Amino acid sequence: MKYAFVTRDDETSKKTALKIQQSLEKYFVYDEIDPEIVISIGGDGTILNAVHQYMDKDCAFIGLHTGTLGFFTDYQLSELDDFIQDVIHNEYKLFDRNLLEVKINQKEGFETLYALNELRLDQGLRTQTISVYINNVLFEIFRGNGLCISTPSGSTGYNKSLGGAIIYPGIPLMQLTEVAGIHHNAYRSLGSSLILDESQTIRLVSEQFQHASMGLDHLHYQFDDVESIEVRISQKTVKFVEYKQMSFIQRVRRAFINS
Ligand code: NAP
Repeated sequence: MKYAFVTRDDETSKKTALKIQQSLEKYFVYDEIDPEIVISIGGDGTILNAVHQYMDKDCAFIGLHTGTLGFFTDYQLSELDDFIQDVIHNEYKLFDRNLLEVKINQKEGFETLYALNELRLDQGLRTQTISVYINNVLFEIFRGNGLCISTPSGSTGYNKSLGGAIIYPGIPLMQLTEVAGIHHNAYRSLGSSLILDESQTIRLVSEQFQHASMGLDHLHYQFDDVESIEVRISQKTVKFVEYKQMSFIQRVRRAFINS
């Protein structure tokens, strides 16, 4: 099997990657260009990096967290030996995670980007006015700091801080959540999160998209002459390696209620 690392830039993660590499070298081939498995050493943020680096390759992802247990990572540093043994000796299952497909329609054409967590249109310094169309029907005119559209995987990230719902991963849904929406008798939008399935497309239109700035997972983009942004659950998914069954509910409890 061919594998590659994506490693967070800290001493613990780098040392851990070296130890794993030494343990795997008798069994597998290190191949940064065309890996079958991408091992992420760091945190959930490192997995986001790995996915953006390798999402166009036919590979699967697995993560070891060098801090606490994350939402994309099944192993902690204290389980390093188990991790190495599982990778060398054990059969694994694959688990598909949904991606968002984000189409940026500009005057001169369009560009398509993908997100594992979410798209964020979030301008703290200036009110944004955004018309929200769902399957080409005007749903609302939003005014406020911005909007976030997240996948089930991203529901525990920025979406949760905005008061959005946590969604069990693996279900092809997307969630539209407001960032500080203005609600009074002149301006009114839904206020709560809206969860949609894969048959729906959200189209966002705003005069302020002339110079649109957006966050996609850990990345930031600036586009000029944007006419609209269309978001849907993509047919394209990313595969995660599962050696052991980890309870998602336990993870949520550990991360947010009681570690
Ligand atoms: P970052 O510093 O890499 O990440 C911010 C925190 O979010 C880190 O603790 C990271 O975990 C955690 N995280 C990332 N994906 C997560 C997920 N799916 N579920 C739960 N926690 C998750 O920040 P960044 O590079 O700017 O953005 C990366 C992601 O962080 C974004 O996609 C967004 O979801 C999240 N974020 C959240 C907030 C917020 O809640 N206010 C603000 C900015 C970004 P690790 O420590 O394990 O890497």
